[in-house]
Amino acid sequence: MTQITDLSLAELRDGLKEKKVTSLEATDAYLSRIEKAGALNAFNTVTADKARDMAKASDEKLGKGEGGDLEGVPLGIKDLFCTEGVLTTASSHILDGFKPRYESTVTSQLWRDGAVMLGKLNMDEFAMGSSNETSFYGNVINPWRRKGDDTPLTPGGSSGGSASAAAAHLCAATTGTDTGGSIRQPASLTGLVGVKPTYGRCSRWGIVAFASSLDQAGPLARDTRDAAIMLKSMAGHDPKDSTSIDCPVPDYEAALGQSVKGLKIGVPKEYRLDGMPQEIETLWSKGVEWMKDAGCEIVDISLPMTKYALPVYYIVAPAEASSNLARYDGVKFGHRASDYKDILSMYETTRAEGFGDEVKRRVLIGTYVLSAGYYDAYYLRAQKVRKKIFDEFTDAFSKVDLILTPSAPSAAFGLGEKADDPIQMYLNDVFTVTGNLAGLPGASVPAGLDAQGLPLGLQLLAKPFDEETMFKGMHVLEQAANFTARPDEWWV
Ligand code: GLN
Repeated sequence: MTQITDLSLAELRDGLKEKKVTSLEATDAYLSRIEKAGALNAFNTVTADKARDMAKASDEKLGKGEGGDLEGVPLGIKDLFCTEGVLTTASSHILDGFKPRYESTVTSQLWRDGAVMLGKLNMDEFAMGSSNETSFYGNVINPWRRKGDDTPLTPGGSSGGSASAAAAHLCAATTGTDTGGSIRQPASLTGLVGVKPTYGRCSRWGIVAFASSLDQAGPLARDTRDAAIMLKSMAGHDPKDSTSIDCPVPDYEAALGQSVKGLKIGVPKEYRLDGMPQEIETLWSKGVEWMKDAGCEIVDISLPMTKYALPVYYIVAPAEASSNLARYDGVKFGHRASDYKDILSMYETTRAEGFGDEVKRRVLIGTYVLSAGYYDAYYLRAQKVRKKIFDEFTDAFSKVDLILTPSAPSAAFGLGEKADDPIQMYLNDVFTVTGNLAGLPGASVPAGLDAQGLPLGLQLLAKPFDEETMFKGMHVLEQAANFTARPDEWWV
């Protein structure tokens, strides 16, 4: 018999509307799976009582034939979204005990549409990382394992808890944020669909800021339909975010299954890396064939600025982070050191105790590249290169409708394998950061398994605000790949 938690978000949504199942049943089923999945360490906080209250309220509405697009559907929320009255930590010690007095716009839209909150999901500290190893609350573990090998693997990062929880069916879907790849890379490593919309599509208001010119919220979901439903609810103009764009939010679900005949798909030669596993290369070629079979025209393109994307990102993102994180000083909220002499030493000790090593590294780099004498050489130059990357994409998108690449340069790797080498870790985002620097929508779709039985994803990038075409393409990849594999439930 199918368990409630095996239903996709779309199936559950329909089942709830048809009264085949209640939200309380679904919520309890998810809560009991969460309880058994402690080994994955995906949750920072489980809000069981709140979830049941929200579920009961949804059931009342559903009983009257009322309710929004997500009425009664249980979701998990990355612990970077401020949730009113509910502990919000960004997985950092410095936010100890922080219970926001307001709700982020994205989560308030999910609740407006009737979704139920199961809890807050573990992540890399302040979303800095690609493996979830920088969380103050410990690593998240990927539900997937290599065949015949029980080495714990990373779910990717920084939305690692979101990825692990969605892949292990602990939630119908989850929210994530993507500053350099943090939705798409973990989606790729856990066999999920992950969507980073266009910069400005989802409001950043109430999301703990990392690098404000790059941060975007988006969904991690089991399939393209579920991701489309989530994004529709999360997206939309918000006057409280000055970079939010006022343009209509289409019905992304309606784009699924529409013909892609005649669409031009760009394949950039610079996304072929030395040392990339052959399996990823092969899968990419398969993706090209799938798009061709669906009637697309394949166009070889060149994006020579790609090689500067990571260096630019690792100037711009730390610069913005060093400024955004200046507010954590122990005065208004979060952790405050107990042992200090004067106000200055209180700030210093609080920050020394409250931030982890990776966050300190970013603050140091950011402060350095913004300092007088170095600003022009690093920050200003990085901004100029960023503009060139944007121009290069604009030019490419005058010739093609979508760009197809691998999502990440490797499958899930073992915990600790890259943790000591920041450069190795930063390389994880080589295919995804370009989309953030140029503000483009991008998505990862599970496309196959490697020889060790681990999921691999393919990425589609689209023109700004053309998520609809991206969803059409994603659906084609999904249909062709027919990815139905699930991890063995070793953690239960
Ligand atoms: N891995 C990248 C970083 O560490 C991207 C993180 C993100 O997208 N939040 O900065």
